[in-house]
Amino acid sequence: MSKKDAAARIAALTKELNEHNYKYYVLAQPSISDFDFDSRLAELASLEQQYPELLDPDSPTQKVGGDITKQFITVRHKWPMLSLSNTYSEQELKDFDTRVRKVLGDDFQYVCELKFDGLSMSLTYENGLLTRGVTRGDGTQGDDVTANIKTIKNIPSKLRSTGYPDIFEIRGEVFMHRAAFERLNKERVENDEIPYANPRNFAAGTIKLQNSSEVAKRPLDCFLYFLYADNRDKLFKTQWESMQALKQWGFHVCEHTKLCNNIHEALAFISYWEQGRHDLSYDIDGIVLKVNSYAQQDELGFTAKSPRWAISYKYKAEEVETILKSISYQVGRTGAVTPVANLEPVQLSGTTVKRATLHNANEIARLNLHELDTVLVEKGGEIIPKITSINTAKRVPDAVKIAYPEKCPVCGTILVRKEGEAVHYCPNEIGCHPQIVGRIQHFASRKAMDIEGLGNETIEVLYKKGLIKQIGDLYNLHRHQSILEQIERFGSKSISNMLNGIEKSKEKPFEKVLFGLGIRYVGETIARKLVLNFKNIDALATASSTEIAEVDEIGKRIAESVSDYFSSALHQQQLVELKMQGLQFSIVEQEIQLKSYKLLEKTFIISGVFEYHSREELTNLILANGGKIMTSISTKLNYLVAGDKMGPSKLAKAQKLNIPMITEDELIKMIK
Ligand code: AMP
Ligand code: ZN
Repeated sequence: MSKKDAAARIAALTKELNEHNYKYYVLAQPSISDFDFDSRLAELASLEQQYPELLDPDSPTQKVGGDITKQFITVRHKWPMLSLSNTYSEQELKDFDTRVRKVLGDDFQYVCELKFDGLSMSLTYENGLLTRGVTRGDGTQGDDVTANIKTIKNIPSKLRSTGYPDIFEIRGEVFMHRAAFERLNKERVENDEIPYANPRNFAAGTIKLQNSSEVAKRPLDCFLYFLYADNRDKLFKTQWESMQALKQWGFHVCEHTKLCNNIHEALAFISYWEQGRHDLSYDIDGIVLKVNSYAQQDELGFTAKSPRWAISYKYKAEEVETILKSISYQVGRTGAVTPVANLEPVQLSGTTVKRATLHNANEIARLNLHELDTVLVEKGGEIIPKITSINTAKRVPDAVKIAYPEKCPVCGTILVRKEGEAVHYCPNEIGCHPQIVGRIQHFASRKAMDIEGLGNETIEVLYKKGLIKQIGDLYNLHRHQSILEQIERFGSKSISNMLNGIEKSKEKPFEKVLFGLGIRYVGETIARKLVLNFKNIDALATASSTEIAEVDEIGKRIAESVSDYFSSALHQQQLVELKMQGLQFSIVEQEIQLKSYKLLEKTFIISGVFEYHSREELTNLILANGGKIMTSISTKLNYLVAGDKMGPSKLAKAQKLNIPMITEDELIKMIK
C-alpha cells in the first residue's frame, strides 16, 4: 500500500474505531462485534507500525479505550488500570509463552482465570471499610461510582475477617447473570424502553445510572481478580495466594480458576471452557493467563498499555450458516414495526435457532439481504441470535432483494419513519389490531393498572366481539352484561370478577394510569418522575417539551414523545372520557402543616444531591414555611437550591437567567 493510501486508510479506521469506542463505552450500546473491532484495531496498529510517521498520539491504538462521563466525580487511579493484550489465536498464545520463557526460563506457573464479560471496577478498602468504587474510565482516571457499588450484595461494605492490609485496592468485574438480564430486559421491552444488547451492556448502563436506588433494583454481581496494596508483596508471593486470601476476607472469587504448570495445561483449560462456558450462569468472553509469582511479574514488567505477564485469549462468537426462509414484520402496541428473520432451524451454542433479530430497515439494508439467502448467524453475548453476514457465493440466481414493506403488514396503512429514527411505525392507532389490543393489554397489565380478571386473552376476545376499541371502553363494559354472558367459557363469576377489577382500577394512583396510557418511551420510572414533577395531568398536558425535558433524567426524545402524545385531539378526547369515569389524574399531596410564613411568596427549585437532607425533606421544609416549589426554571423563580451533580442544562439555564443559587445550609438559615 502506498503511503497516501495508508494515510487514508488510517484516517478512516481511526474515525470508525473512535465512533465504536464511544458507542461501547459511553452509550454502552455497541454496534459491531468485539472480533470485528479487534481486527480493525489490529489493522490500524499494523499500518501505524509500517508508517510510524503517520502515528497520531490520539490514535485509538494508543488508548486503553473508554471515555469518562461527566456526571460522576473523576478519580485518578493509584495504580493505572491497564488493558490486557488479547488474542484469538492459539499461535499467538504460544508466542506469548515463548516471550515469557525467554525471561523466566521454564520455572513458573500460569493462573488461568475466566475472562468475565462485564465492566472492570476498582474498589478501595480502608481499615476494612469499602471507601471507594471507581470505573476503569480511560485507565488513568475513572468515575467514582461508590454509591452504586454499595448496592451490590456480593461486595462487602465491611470486612468481617482479619489479616487484610489497612489500605488496599482490589479489582474485579461487575456483571449481571444471564437470567436476571433476560428478566429485566423483558420488562424493559414491556415498558417500551430500549432493551440492552447483552448482560455486559446492561451492567455497564446500570453502573452509570445517577440514581442508586434504581441500581439497587438491578441485581449485579462482582468477581474479584487482582489485589493491590503497598505491602502486598510482603503478604503474598503469588496471584493464587492472594486470591485465596480474598475469599477469606469475604470477596466473591470465581471457583473456576486453575493453576497451570505450562502453556499446554493452559491450552487444555481454554479448550475445556470453550464449550463449558455455555453452562455458566454468566457470560465469559475468554480466558486470562497470568504469571502466578509476583516477583516474576515484576521481572517481566509492562508495556505502555498492558502487563507483559498476562494475556487474554478470546473466544470467537459461535457462528453457523443457515437459510433465510422469510421475514415477519411484527407490530407492537406503539405501532413500532420489528422485522424478524425466520430461519431454517439450526443448532448453535447448544440451542436450536429458528429466528434472528433484524432490528430495523437499516439492518436489512446493511446486510443487503435477498430472498432465500444463506446467512451467517452468531450468538454472542446476545440472547437473541443475529445475522452477521451473508454468504453471497450461495445466493440463489436472480434472488430478489428484500425491500422493507411500505405498508403495515396488518392493516395496510403506509408506514412512517421519523427523521433520525431507525424504526418504522404504523400510524393507524385506532384501526390496527395489534396496536389496539396491545395498548389495552398494557393498560391492564400487572405493572400498570393490574386489573384483576382481565387477562390478555380476555382482552383479545372482547376486542374481537367489538366490545372494546380503546381503554375507555373497559369502563363501559358493565353496560353490556348480556353480550358478555354469551361469550363462550366466560362464566358469570369471571364476568363479575372482571367488572369488579375494572371498577377497582379507578383507585389506582396517577403514576400507574400515566404508565398505563402507553406513551412511547414512558416506562414506569419515567411515569413516576413526571407525576412527581407535574402533580396532575393538566399541568403535564400543557407543558412544552422543553419544560418536560427540565425534569431530571428526562431527555429530549422522551419529552417530545410526551408532548406529542398530549397534542393529539384523539388523546385529549380519550383523556376527558377517562377523567369522567373517575380515574386518578393527580397526586394526592400530603397535607403539610404550615410552620411559618418565612418563605411566603418565594419560589424554589431543588436540584442535585444533598449532604444532609433528601430532596423530599427539603421540599417539605419549603412548603411548611410557606414557600412554593416550581417545576421549571423561569424568570419567576427566586432560588435554585443547588446540590451536587446538578444537571448541566439546569445549571446553564439558571446562570443565564441570573437565578440566585443557594446551598442547603443557606436554605436552612432562611427558615431558622
Ligand atoms: P480487554 O478489555 O479486552 O482489554 O480485556 C481486559 C479486561 O478484561 C480487563 O480490564 C477486565 O475488565 C476484564 N477481565 C475479565 N476477567 C478478568 C480476569 N479474570 N482477570 C483480569 N481481567 C479480567
Ligand atoms: Zn397497522
